[in-house]
Amino acid sequence: MAEPWTVLRLLNWTREHFVKAGVDEPRLAAEVLLACALRCPRIMLYARFEYEPNAEELAAFRERVKRAAAHEPVAYLVGEKEFYSLAFAVTPAVLIPRGETELLVDEAVKHLRSLGRPGRVWDAFTGSGCVAVAVAVQAKDATVLATDVSPEAVAVAAGNARRHKVDSRVRCEVVDRLDWAEAGEFDVLTANPPYVAVGAPVGQCVQHEPSSALYAGADGMDFIAPLVRDAPPRLAPGGALVLEFGYDQADRVRDLIVAGGAFAEPRILRDHQGIERAAAAVRK
Ligand code: GLN
Repeated sequence: MAEPWTVLRLLNWTREHFVKAGVDEPRLAAEVLLACALRCPRIMLYARFEYEPNAEELAAFRERVKRAAAHEPVAYLVGEKEFYSLAFAVTPAVLIPRGETELLVDEAVKHLRSLGRPGRVWDAFTGSGCVAVAVAVQAKDATVLATDVSPEAVAVAAGNARRHKVDSRVRCEVVDRLDWAEAGEFDVLTANPPYVAVGAPVGQCVQHEPSSALYAGADGMDFIAPLVRDAPPRLAPGGALVLEFGYDQADRVRDLIVAGGAFAEPRILRDHQGIERAAAAVRK
């Protein structure tokens, strides 16, 4: 009799298959897909190594393994991605949250805590809402405006606010860039806008993500430049702009922030790979 397909055998086989196919984090990808097919938390796989999935579970798993091996992002195949230790729903209408974007949350929360009163946050270009929701979860008295030009993205963000029970403090609205008509100043403005230069090489998985969330003209600055220009009147004095940018844009972003004259010298923050990844600038 053939050896049965247990959880352990499936994970080992799939990991090998993903290594050969060049899938990122092959073991993790295998675990995430199998946990999804078995409808159990990933960690529970370790208690079920000898379990033999039934035909329906196997079919669900194999279908997703095939697509992942063809470089569809695992997060889209299972419909969620972890960010700041929270599970966020994602669809192909939104960028998949990246670990380096957690920097924006750290910085926003630090600034909010320094206020000593409930703060107002605007997360522009919110996508899945990961920054907006993680900030609201961390800063329990903050109110957050989360905006995106894509109605599909705003729906995903609103769902994530409900999922993490911060929907009473996170307002999600369809807004292009900073074209928010209501008055009011914010204590923190976070943004992870599109910043990839058109034509720059991106990974195979990234090609499945919305190009409108990634690309920003010939130099990748089409959204960052107007954002830096238009941000000051949206911020209260002492308010912070916390902005993510691309690996080679730190100097240009610093120059833009300084040239505008409204901000003090920005701090440039590095991600866990040591790459300059975000700027934090306080309005004078
Ligand atoms: N960091 C993303 C990437 O390299 C880009 C995200 C963005 O454009 N905001 O794929």
